[in-house]
Amino acid sequence: MNENHASTEAIVLRSYPLRESDLIAVLYTRQFGRVSGVARGARRSKSRFAGKLEPLSWSEVVLFCKRNADLFTIDSADLIESFAQRTHDYRCLLQLGLVAEMLADTTPEREPSDPLFRLALLVLPHLTQAATVDLAQLYFEVWYLKLAGFYPSHRNCSVCQALLTADSSVYASIGASLFACGRCQQSGRKVSYRAVSLLDGICRMRLAEVFRLESSPAEVAELRTITESLLQRSFERSFRSLRLISEEAKVV
Ligand SMILES: [Zn+2]
Repeated sequence: MNENHASTEAIVLRSYPLRESDLIAVLYTRQFGRVSGVARGARRSKSRFAGKLEPLSWSEVVLFCKRNADLFTIDSADLIESFAQRTHDYRCLLQLGLVAEMLADTTPEREPSDPLFRLALLVLPHLTQAATVDLAQLYFEVWYLKLAGFYPSHRNCSVCQALLTADSSVYASIGASLFACGRCQQSGRKVSYRAVSLLDGICRMRLAEVFRLESSPAEVAELRTITESLLQRSFERSFRSLRLISEEAKVV
């Protein structure tokens, strides 16, 4: 990007105060990928940015960047939707936070990915509703790993290539990042065939179609345990939001 102003859609991931009245916002943008930008005067009470750079909001922003500068300047922001404002459900807010944490901490800076941007926008509205939050989050996690090239194939045994069908026992090895049949692997985590079928649906279908599948919370939870272990292993980090989500599940 030369010394130009550019308009792009952005999902606000985080924001920090800077100096007396400015704000630094970490954005995942459609056009530039993850960037950080300064919004001058954004913390003043009558700022034109008021309410438009809150985490988990989707805005159209105008960015300006000097050649070789680390930070963009955010010239303006027009709010399209604030996902965090749509819910007061603590579990939903934690899961929205997980999306922001993943995008902020695992995407390379200034490497745009339109599929990833579209994936985030696809799931965010469903993460604001208790009825859809868990399955939508699983869909996001599986596709996040697939887009990064980290999700192992679930259709064939990774060792002998045999088709994994309803008749075969399926095991997930998180350490080796693979699914295998019972003949090749009997350690690791046994996966129910209904969970494998749901995973197949997630990989083949649109999110709206996945919601119409008959899946139980148990299968969603089973796949999320595997997928979240893969996430932490693949990105070599533990996500604070995942810890909070699991702590919240124990309290309920
Ligand atoms: Zn095998």
